[in-house]
Amino acid sequence: MAAGSLAPGPAVVIAAHAERCPRCLARLYELEAIGGVLLEELEPAVLAPDALTRTLAHIDAPGRRAKPLAGKPSGRRGVAAQPARCHG
Ligand SMILES: [Zn+2]
Repeated sequence: MAAGSLAPGPAVVIAAHAERCPRCLARLYELEAIGGVLLEELEPAVLAPDALTRTLAHIDAPGRRAKPLAGKPSGRRGVAAQPARCHG
């Protein structure tokens, strides 16, 4: 979450759970603090000169549009099918 790298679905599940679970909320704060320190310690990387252009072209490419939210869930990662259990 600190780096915004979690997919929206799992991020909502975790946020909703942590809202009512002090134990997981405390753990989440710990992990976000660790993630923040790790990001700060990263050496800056030089991007290719055309990185932005290629990224924008990739986003605009046909067939790369996000699928509508309605309909059958893909279940690719099986996240939605699993109960949101965090501790025993
Ligand atoms: Zn919990």
